[in-house]
Amino acid sequence: MAHDIEALTNGAMAPVWSWVQGKIPANVEVFDAHAHIGADVDGRTMTADGMRDRMEAAGVKKSIVFPLNDPNARDDYSGPNDVVWNAYEEYPALFVPFFRLNPHLDYDREFERCIERGFMGLKLHPVSQQFELDDPRVVRLLGMAAERDLPVLIHAGFAMQRIVEPLLPTVESHPELRLILGHAAMVEVLAATRAFEDHPNVLFETSVVRAKDLYELFASLDPSRIAYGSDIPYGDLPSTLHSLLASAEAAGVPDSAIPGLLSGNIRRWFP
Ligand SMILES: [Zn+2]
Repeated sequence: MAHDIEALTNGAMAPVWSWVQGKIPANVEVFDAHAHIGADVDGRTMTADGMRDRMEAAGVKKSIVFPLNDPNARDDYSGPNDVVWNAYEEYPALFVPFFRLNPHLDYDREFERCIERGFMGLKLHPVSQQFELDDPRVVRLLGMAAERDLPVLIHAGFAMQRIVEPLLPTVESHPELRLILGHAAMVEVLAATRAFEDHPNVLFETSVVRAKDLYELFASLDPSRIAYGSDIPYGDLPSTLHSLLASAEAAGVPDSAIPGLLSGNIRRWFP
């Protein structure tokens, strides 16, 4: 495992990694807004120690972490949510814990339990849990999050069909709701930047987005609305940092915006 991590910054990756390091200002504490701890039905896993090792190797100081599409989620996700909470208790300085729910099932009790416990946000995955963003149960849940001032990260990437059109009415009726669009709404990135431009509580997170879509994102949205993410274990820190920094440069984002992209924009919500 240590060898796997070293391979991300050595060999063929060495010049890429040194370019990345040269682009990260010395005083910036990189904040990863999208990572997973636990197990997925597809066989991927990540442990708290695995996250810590990867963050140390890449100089990343904080990561938002939440469950994968866990085979042990059962009804309410309480088991995988506990795995994330335990990771946070072990490394409170490294992790910002989010919990996950299935909006099809009774979620009220787990929602309350996680808020009382101290979770700092909610993760929803419309593809894995097979729901639409305008499903009344989802709209209700987003309203509950707004009321409790709980940030929500929504998977808005691979395999999504509808994002802007079903989500916009909820954003408009809850302007205080803090939303992170995971994978930057990449399937309809231009429609999303246009629709959410005037909603400052909607952030676009950049993990595992194609270069063309990242370029469009940086070319069409104020950089203060964009936050770096890795999607570990699907992405890795060196490559996702490289795609963000290279796309931002290609789109003409000024160097003065880099600290916000890598850290400041998301850190405002989790000081
Ligand atoms: Zn993810």
